[in-house]
Amino acid sequence: MGLPHQTTTPKPPIALTLAWRWITAGVDPALNGTLRRRQYITNAVPALVLLMVLFYYLLFLVLGNGELARSCLQDMPIPAAGVAWFRWRQACGQPPHYWKACFICQTTVLAGILGGQGTLFGSHFYFLLFFLTAPLIVPISDRRGMTIVCAICLGWFSFFQFMQWPATPSVQTLGPTVISLLNLGVLLSGSIILFVALLAGEHFSDALVNRIQLMASTDMLTGLANRRAFYSRLAQLQFRHQLDQHPFCLAMLDIDFFKRINDNYGHDTGDKVLCHIAKLLQHQVRAQDLVCRIGGEEFAILLPDTSMEQAFIMCEAIRNTIASSPLAHGARALHATVSLGLAQWQSGDSEQAFLAATDKALYAAKHAGRNGVQQRRQTAPAV
Ligand code: GH3
Ligand code: MG
Ligand code: MG
Repeated sequence: MGLPHQTTTPKPPIALTLAWRWITAGVDPALNGTLRRRQYITNAVPALVLLMVLFYYLLFLVLGNGELARSCLQDMPIPAAGVAWFRWRQACGQPPHYWKACFICQTTVLAGILGGQGTLFGSHFYFLLFFLTAPLIVPISDRRGMTIVCAICLGWFSFFQFMQWPATPSVQTLGPTVISLLNLGVLLSGSIILFVALLAGEHFSDALVNRIQLMASTDMLTGLANRRAFYSRLAQLQFRHQLDQHPFCLAMLDIDFFKRINDNYGHDTGDKVLCHIAKLLQHQVRAQDLVCRIGGEEFAILLPDTSMEQAFIMCEAIRNTIASSPLAHGARALHATVSLGLAQWQSGDSEQAFLAATDKALYAAKHAGRNGVQQRRQTAPAV
C-alpha cells in the first residue's frame, strides 16, 4: 500500500529505549532541534565518564597495578555522584546544563592526575578532548560560555603539558612498554569518544532535517502529502517523463456536497470525514502513487507509470470504495461520495495546462451528477 508519509518503525531493544529515556529526560521538547541535541549529549556525559573510569579500573586491574586501580576507585564517586545528581535533576524535570557536565568531566580527570596517575601516560590529553567536543554541548549562541569552557580546557591541558605532574612511586615502576601502551589507550579512547560524539551529532542532525522535511511536506489534519509535496513530485514525474516517456496521470478528487456534512454535523465531524477519506485513499493506491491533500476537501493523486485506461480503472475503484465505506458516527453512518477528474501528461504539456485539464474533467464529473469519474484525453493547450 502506498503510504509515503507513514512508515512503520520496528520496536528498538529495551536497552536503547532506557538509554533514550535517560538522555531525553528533563529536556524541553519545545526547544529547537540543535539545542535539544546539545542537552541530550549533556545528559549522557556523567554516565559516559563513569563508564570510562570503570573501564580504566578494570584495565589497571588486568595490568596488575593496584595503585592505579585504587586511583580509579578514588575517582569513581565523582561521576557516580554526577549520575545521581543528573538523575535527581531529571526527576525534577530540570533541563541539563552544560556547566555541570563540564564540571564532572574536568574534576574526574583532575582527581585522576592529582590522585596518583600524574601525567605519566597523558591523562591530561582528555582536557584537549573536552576542548574539541565543547561545541557539541555548549550552545553556539553562548559565546561567553564557549570561551570560558574552551579557556579552562586549554588552560588545564597547557598547564599539565608544560609543568608535568609526577605519578606516585608505585605507578612510576611501570615499565616503558606499559606506559606507552597506556598512552596509546588515552589517545585511542579519546579518538573513539570524539568519533562517537561526531557520529551522534550527525545522526541527530539527519533526524532533525528529516523531521523538518516531513513537517514541510505533510498535511497536518490527514497526514497526507501537502500541496508543496504535490508540486515537487509532479516536477519529478515531468522530468522522468522527458527521459523515459513513461505515461503518468493525475486524478483530482473532490468530496461531493461536503459543505452539507459540515452544516449538518459540524466542522469536527467534517474533519473526521476528511481523515476517513484520506485513509481510504492511502489504502487504495499503490506504493509508487502519491496522494496529496491540496485544498480543503480536494485531493490529488499522482499515478506514475500509468496509462489513462489503468488510471481510470483505479479511480473507479477508489470512487466505489469511498461510496461503499461510510464513516460510523454514533448510531449513524455518514455516507460520502467523491467526484474525480483524470488527465494523462502529454509530451510538450505545460504544468498549468495539465492541471487545468484535470480541473475540467473534475468539473465535468460534478456536472454529470457527482459520484463519478471523468477523463480528458487531450490536455488544454499551453498558456
Ligand atoms: P461540491 O459537490 O460542488 O464540491 O460541493 P461542496 O459542498 O463539497 O463544495 P464547496 O466548495 O461549496 O464546499 C467545500 C466546503 O469544504 C466548504 C468548507 O467549509 C469546507 N472545508 C474546507 N476545508 C475544510 C476543513 O479543513 N475541514 C472541514 N471540516 N471543512 C472544510
Ligand atoms: Mg471543492
Ligand atoms: Mg466538494
